[in-house]
Amino acid sequence: SAVMERIQRRKSLQLRNQQAAWQESNDGQSMMEFRRSLPAYKEKQTLLEAISQNQVVVVSGETGCGKTTQLPQYILESEIDAARGATCSIICTQPRRISAIAVSERVAAERGEKIGESVGYKVRLEGMRGRDTRLLFCTTGVLLRRLLVDRNLKGVTHVIVDEIHERGMNEDFLLIVLKDLLPRRPELRLMLMSATLNAELFSSYFGGAPMIHIPGFTYPVRNHFLEDILEFTGHRLTPYNQIDDYGQEKSWKMQKQALRKRKSQIASAVEERPGAVLVFMTGWDDINALKEQLQANPLLGDPSKVLLLACHGSMASSEQKLIFDKPEPGVRKIVLATNLAETSITINDVVFVVDCGKAKETSYDALNNTPCLLPTWISKASARQRRGRAGRVQPGECYHLYPRCVYDSFADYQLPELLRTPLQSLCLQIKSLRLGSISEFLSRALQSPESLSVQNAIEYLKVIGAFDQNEELTVLGKHLSMLPVEPKLGKMLIFGAIFNCLDPILTIVSGLSVRDPFLTPFDKKDLAESAKLQFSCRDYSDHLALVRAYEGWREAERDRAGYDYCWKNFLSVQTLKAIDSLRRQFLFLLKDTGLVDENMTLCNKWSRDENLVRAVICAGLYPGISSIVNKEKSISLKTMEDGQVMLYSSSVNGKEAKIPFPWLVFNEKVKVNSVFLRDSTAISDSILLLFGGNIKQGGLDGHLKMLGGYLEFFMSRDLASTYLSLKNELENLIHC
Ligand code: ADP
Ligand code: MG
Repeated sequence: SAVMERIQRRKSLQLRNQQAAWQESNDGQSMMEFRRSLPAYKEKQTLLEAISQNQVVVVSGETGCGKTTQLPQYILESEIDAARGATCSIICTQPRRISAIAVSERVAAERGEKIGESVGYKVRLEGMRGRDTRLLFCTTGVLLRRLLVDRNLKGVTHVIVDEIHERGMNEDFLLIVLKDLLPRRPELRLMLMSATLNAELFSSYFGGAPMIHIPGFTYPVRNHFLEDILEFTGHRLTPYNQIDDYGQEKSWKMQKQALRKRKSQIASAVEERPGAVLVFMTGWDDINALKEQLQANPLLGDPSKVLLLACHGSMASSEQKLIFDKPEPGVRKIVLATNLAETSITINDVVFVVDCGKAKETSYDALNNTPCLLPTWISKASARQRRGRAGRVQPGECYHLYPRCVYDSFADYQLPELLRTPLQSLCLQIKSLRLGSISEFLSRALQSPESLSVQNAIEYLKVIGAFDQNEELTVLGKHLSMLPVEPKLGKMLIFGAIFNCLDPILTIVSGLSVRDPFLTPFDKKDLAESAKLQFSCRDYSDHLALVRAYEGWREAERDRAGYDYCWKNFLSVQTLKAIDSLRRQFLFLLKDTGLVDENMTLCNKWSRDENLVRAVICAGLYPGISSIVNKEKSISLKTMEDGQVMLYSSSVNGKEAKIPFPWLVFNEKVKVNSVFLRDSTAISDSILLLFGGNIKQGGLDGHLKMLGGYLEFFMSRDLASTYLSLKNELENLIHC
């Protein structure tokens, strides 16, 4: 209406004045000066023009050139300058919550504002935004869930998808949805941002969208491959055309010799000039091992002159700060990092990069329906990216710990996540977004997943009762798609609420979606594992051990003894705090969806009933189940798909010689060399029978048929009537 328009007009003018006032202030001017020094600034006009004239634009540029913090801001500023500040709505997606939060804070600061004014963020279960927020940084998942209730993104003027070069599953998925949406919303603008030069792929996906490249200013970096050590030619390098053979016995010996040489060579090169060293390694274990080795056995002279740091996804924030700070003069900073430091994190003073050539990558073995986590060779793009980290401030050196011929055989880019992970959540989302047939939809992806992976996911969703036989969402499936967790955790929450044993289930689900709070420091593995065992109280459940550990911590917190408690029991305070806050958020969500009533009158009635809790765990984790056969001195575990499987020694069940239950339900299995189960709970036949869904496979069926009196478990604890009355409700929920 006219009144509305007048209000918006006034608001827009007000925003324009505010922005101008900041840019003219002293602080604002020095900020503008910094911003103008970034490579992205030179492309500002080109970019704004391209966006006004095209619906889709693809931008690429080196990490650190100013894509994430600047480009969305340019759009916001130009909208405000054009007096459209009150009507524009810009959404910029980030693959990780950490970056969504950090970037929005940075952009707000660059605009002289607090977070939640014109710039805000929204990540899973958490956000800071106000009525006047015009530029929203959110995780890709958040935008996907918004599309669930707002198919046309009403009111949104610009969507910016960041870090598309990573080819994350959510980003690939979002692109299909957006591609469908664009014709319905001709005025909507879409910008895709990539850190590497693979823009063509995306451009052609969107019918030849214009590409803009932001040239970076990196200094040249010299490449050193393994064979560059000439003394080493006493042995000839075998032709590494078969990359899998590399690292095996024969070549391994030579490689070790070369690596030893390389170590001293790097050390002497580094001693010659200042600059930080960044070492790319495969994972946390390697990093720890090397850190200890270097502390015991320093390669570079005086250890007091070396600042040795580890950098990985869950490091403490105090440690994080050290990584970015310049060390004192004369002190050498060495950062041991995972591939996190490839694009997400920029350490400015790096001059030397050591690249091991591998990264731990999740992959998915569709044939055996098993996720794997193995160190694999990185892609050429990653290797280039790693090398580039050495040239931020001056010419640098990059030492690859592999021969050039291995580099030559790397894939150009990493396999997209869509092609290497289980697709359950994705299939659930496709259905709840009413995007039609799952296979047809996925066939329109940039690169489509194998049909076997798709079939496995659909089959899983049928087994857990989220899909009916026609691949349509059941009521349970609808509820699951609204909960921002994996289907199995969502199902556990729903069952926990229905069966009124919510409290422990909240802890378990939060723990499984944050990470394990039990720490296993390298040098104190045994102590840590026996500390964990104390929480098990011989109930054969990692999940119940987690509940006890968490409750113990809460109690200790009340006496202000939380830190002592964690220290004594090898628990991570930070993780427990994260679990604590996630618990609250899940509870809020359950109240919001009506699964738990506002006063929580009933929902904890049976929380102390350990067997019922086991049953709900089973309901969630089924069909993740293995049989237990107690042998004379050890136990033998088998799953239907894998045959023999193993337990990690950190599991409370891992050291048991006997488990007086016939079944284990597990959260996750991972193929390392054999298949390992992570976090398990022992359950009885009756639990499996009642909560384990529909078991079709003959083997189990036969076993279960022989069971008699399975209601006994409920009879004994006055739960039979609860169960029977709830059973109908439950069946309705699942099947209607
Ligand atoms: P890109 O997205 O292209 O990798 P960013 O926009 O994230 O680049 O960062 C551009 C530059 O802004 C960085 O090189 C850095 O100098 C600066 N910058 C980014 N975030 C921060 C921050 N939180 N504090 C200080 N400077 C920052
Ligand atoms: Mg960025």
